Amino acid sequence: MGAGRYRGAPVNGAPPRLMADAMLGKLARWLRTLGYDCAFEPSITDDELLKRAIDEGRVILTRDTLLIQRRAARGKTIFIESDLVSDQLKELSKRFEINATGFLTRCLRCNIPLEDLGKDSARDKVPPYVFATQERFSICPRCSRVYWGGTHKARMIEEIERMLKG
Ligand SMILES: [Zn+2]
Repeated sequence: MGAGRYRGAPVNGAPPRLMADAMLGKLARWLRTLGYDCAFEPSITDDELLKRAIDEGRVILTRDTLLIQRRAARGKTIFIESDLVSDQLKELSKRFEINATGFLTRCLRCNIPLEDLGKDSARDKVPPYVFATQERFSICPRCSRVYWGGTHKARMIEEIERMLKG
């Protein structure tokens, strides 16, 4: 069926702002990890989900066949077929440019872009070992959670890229 196909013109092939339904929390978290804007409110009704998507100009990622059939949802949803998050990312990557260049640039909890945090300002906000071994830190302007690349950043990015290709 044609419902769910996003026909807008994505900027530079990047995905539009997204919103995941209650069944796609893992995918939402991965998308945020990769730096993509993906709202996730698992406890709202379908009506509220649709309203928020429309208000905020988001495309809904959903596994709900009833939702995609609703008139109000027409052209605003992408139906995700797979159960597995790696396959779900691959499904999306056929539609949009999905890559790891924005890795850890967005708060996983608040879904908003992180801000740079100077090393000195990070001193009392992270464990001493982390402070001693990391040079770059960022902070969420809303929840103040501090992020750093960590030693496995490069490996994770490789894993994600392999997942998208494989
Ligand atoms: Zn946050």
